[in-house]
Amino acid sequence: MITSTMMDVPLQVRRLLEHGATIHGGSRVVTATGTGTHEVRFRDIARGAARLAGALAGLGVKPGDRVATFMWNNHRHVEAYFAVPAMGAVLHPLNIRLFPEQIAFIANHATDRVVIVDASLLPGFAKLLPALKSVRHVIVAGQADRAVLDGSGVGVYDYETLLAAQHQTYDWPDVDERSAAAMCYTSGTTGHPKGVVYSHRSIYLHALAEAMPDVFDLSARDLLLTVVPQFHVLAWGLPYAAFATGTSLAMPDRFLTPEPLAAFIEAARPNKGAGVPTVWVGLLEHLEAHPETGVSSLTDLVVGGSAMSETLMRALDARGITGLHAWGMTEMSPLGTFSRPPVDAADEDVDGYRLTQGRFAAPVEARLVGPDGDEVGWDGESVGELQVRGPWITASYFQEGDDEEHFDEGWLRTGDVGSVTPDGYLRLTDRARDVIKSGGEWISSVELEGHLAAHPAVVEAAVVGVPDEKWGERPLATVVVREGASVDVTELREFLATKVAKWQLPERWAVVPEIPKTSVGKFDKKIIRAAYAHDDLNVTTLG
Ligand code: ADP
Repeated sequence: MITSTMMDVPLQVRRLLEHGATIHGGSRVVTATGTGTHEVRFRDIARGAARLAGALAGLGVKPGDRVATFMWNNHRHVEAYFAVPAMGAVLHPLNIRLFPEQIAFIANHATDRVVIVDASLLPGFAKLLPALKSVRHVIVAGQADRAVLDGSGVGVYDYETLLAAQHQTYDWPDVDERSAAAMCYTSGTTGHPKGVVYSHRSIYLHALAEAMPDVFDLSARDLLLTVVPQFHVLAWGLPYAAFATGTSLAMPDRFLTPEPLAAFIEAARPNKGAGVPTVWVGLLEHLEAHPETGVSSLTDLVVGGSAMSETLMRALDARGITGLHAWGMTEMSPLGTFSRPPVDAADEDVDGYRLTQGRFAAPVEARLVGPDGDEVGWDGESVGELQVRGPWITASYFQEGDDEEHFDEGWLRTGDVGSVTPDGYLRLTDRARDVIKSGGEWISSVELEGHLAAHPAVVEAAVVGVPDEKWGERPLATVVVREGASVDVTELREFLATKVAKWQLPERWAVVPEIPKTSVGKFDKKIIRAAYAHDDLNVTTLG
């Protein structure tokens, strides 16, 4: 064996921070304020991160300690993203949209010591605090009445005051690249939330791969609207990719509903964006009603977290915005696939490629496993459960190990079902638990939803499997009808009959005011199934 002559330099979050602050020191983090924008440079973020690290060390934070955040997407949260891992502690963004009991479960499970809280979230956090057993210090970012924390028995500090007393440099430790840098919990759409712990190495490699031209295509010339929350899968790792490339960030803070979001886009003029489909659907609806809104700066929107429907892709196209489809999971940091059509694709095939989940990022390996446990070929037809492995994919859950339900001999079982074309394009047909098993055949809920959403009178539609005496399970379609539109479910069923085989047509239909969503904006099918089971839906049976 011959040993390489290469230096063994550890991959650390600290290096990304230093690179961004020096090489791209002038790149910006633009945060929405509700009335305008607030702007800092990467070099300011680095100084803030150093001060924050000094402050945390002063509060007794040691390497490996968990420092949680309870924050929106903004410049201070970016400071925490770098300060905490770079000082050797572990960043733990808490999902502010979960139920209080879930947040308490997660913070206690992670044994968070310190929490940095946005002022606008303080009232809700104050109610939660008594249930957070390991928290000793709370740092409040922004103007707030901190008296709501009086009597809580923890140290309470103002972010700016605390930082002002610190140096703007910090003697960053030389941490092991395999040590924990950050952690996130799955949003718990199945079972209780599970912790995923990212390493310095996984964050660094993920940042580089994510920025590549056939992935997010990030450079110092971009301003990226990061709508995907920083409390969800580290905002898809985008702040780290930004510091690796100099990409400026546009952070919407709490102004996420369509109107202020559109106003922020008008003011900040980002050219790219990243978020779940729900956000873009809402934004497009707003733009329909307010055509004067100037969002012409936007050219590329990355759509991930749930499938990008054809309707959404076309609606974005009509505005000159390219919808780019990405797939991933909390367990995967999250990048798995990204869809850009092959350069030699025939014109008529391009949109078909764009609607797939895309091709696997460089170090992500994938295989499809059929119900009998055998591997399924990449022929674009055969369907199996997708399993993945790679340097930014978790091999176990925090303090839970690698049980067989989620892991298979070194592979992560994604719980997603689909096919892969011979040229490596993944097409998901469902999540394993959402696929409708009707008389031995599988019906894809996602496919039915996509067709229904394409009907002009439908805002959105969710399809779930419900128990059926004869078939075991049959689809139930729940639809939200556009305001002012008149359509009945018989008509929708006839419309669907022109798109899918007859045996796949739902018999059960319910028009609903809205589709229940999870904390990160995905359809919450658990709630729909429960509503059906409790007879809470006004169901019409057809066919
Ligand atoms: P969870 O919702 O389980 O807490 P994540 O937020 O990490 O976890 O979501 C991961 C899941 O979201 C994937 O396994 C997949 O089912 C779904 N998903 C993500 N991106 C896409 C996409 N582009 N198309 C379809 N489904 C997607």
